[in-house]
Amino acid sequence: MADLLKLVYWDDPALSTVCETVMDNEFGPKMEEFGQQLLATMDAAPGVGLAAPQVGITKRIFAMRFPDHEGLKPMVIVNPTLELSGSTRYEREGCLSVPGVFEQVARAEKADLRFKTLDNIEAVMELTNIDARVAQHEFDHLNGIMFFNYLDVRPTYGRRMSKQVSKQVLREWEREKAKRGL
Ligand code: ZN
Repeated sequence: MADLLKLVYWDDPALSTVCETVMDNEFGPKMEEFGQQLLATMDAAPGVGLAAPQVGITKRIFAMRFPDHEGLKPMVIVNPTLELSGSTRYEREGCLSVPGVFEQVARAEKADLRFKTLDNIEAVMELTNIDARVAQHEFDHLNGIMFFNYLDVRPTYGRRMSKQVSKQVLREWEREKAKRGL
């Protein structure tokens, strides 16, 4: 089994960083190893998604599960783009970088995810509902955006949450952080 990576917690600077695109010459055995470690760390947490900045690596890479498709194996997604469509959906969401805190977050119902695999092969997936939500949450991490961010207003899908609820999330996190000694 791959070695586990060390999680960072809010407000580690890596979580506010716009991550770098992975270059063609960065694919290879080291990338493959990092991808396997990211998957293993996500599994151990356990979580449905884990982005590289959550382990302090500010590259455009994340791991995700597909909760709506139990048969689909977890994947490592590199240099993704997302095209959102459908209605705005609200569901309770959490984050491995803010453990113990959950809140309703507005997300698009559908997301077309274009990316490269760990083998540097281009791929596209049409995701809906929870799968689409996970992809949007992890994609946000690559742009230094947390699920409680209310400032980055998306043209069609509005704010993830209100400023008031966002502040409440941060207050809850301060309590959790102290309780957990993080
Ligand atoms: Zn997260």
